[in-house]
Parts: sequence; structure tokens; C-alpha cells
Amino acid sequence: MKLKTYKALVPYILKESKEIVGVAFLYLDCGCIKVCKLSGNGYLIEHIFLNPLKLNKFPICLKCDDDKGSIYRVIHFEIIWADDESKMLNGEQRLAILRKAFGGDFLELGVFTK
Ligand SMILES: [Zn+2]
Repeated sequence: MKLKTYKALVPYILKESKEIVGVAFLYLDCGCIKVCKLSGNGYLIEHIFLNPLKLNKFPICLKCDDDKGSIYRVIHFEIIWADDESKMLNGEQRLAILRKAFGGDFLELGVFTK
């Protein structure tokens, strides 16, 4: 699945579960993109792997197969937050969730949508 196609599904993913406050796209050094649901208590729930270089065939490369897309290989990440009223978070709450999910060292890699 293409990244663009997948991003169009994000609102539905956010709607289907109460605990999910965002969807995280983790861009890995191998070219794969690990997509995780982000829970309100700061857990990254592995959801799907996208690999723009190997569409459809093998969604995961050998590196990812080996380490399941380790956070240490994340070169950049993007969060799409839920905009549902019941899940609205302020900047501080978001930061607390991200600190838990990524740890302080990784925060600078992020781009936050919405
Ligand atoms: Zn990979």
C-alpha cells in the first residue's frame, strides 16, 4: 500500500479505537515505514509496515524482519493526531505521550501534524 493511500485511512484508524490518540509513521534507515497506533498512555502499538521501494511484494525488508523496525533506526517520524473532540490533547499532554513513546532522545526527529 502506498503511503499516501495509507494516510487517507488514518481518520478511520483513529475512530475505530477509543484508546488511540494518534498514528505514528516511523521512517526507518532501510526505507521501510513502520506505522504504529499511539495510545493515550504512550504506547506504540505496531500496526503495519510499508515499504515504498518494494510495494506489495514484501512489505518488510530483512533488517526489519530481524529487529521489527527498531526505534534506534528511526531517522524521522511523523504523528497524525486524532482531532476528535473526546481525544483532544493539549501540547503538554502530547509531549508527555511522546516522551513515553519515544524517549527524550528521539523527540527531535519528529514532525507533528495537526
Ligand atoms: Zn526495513
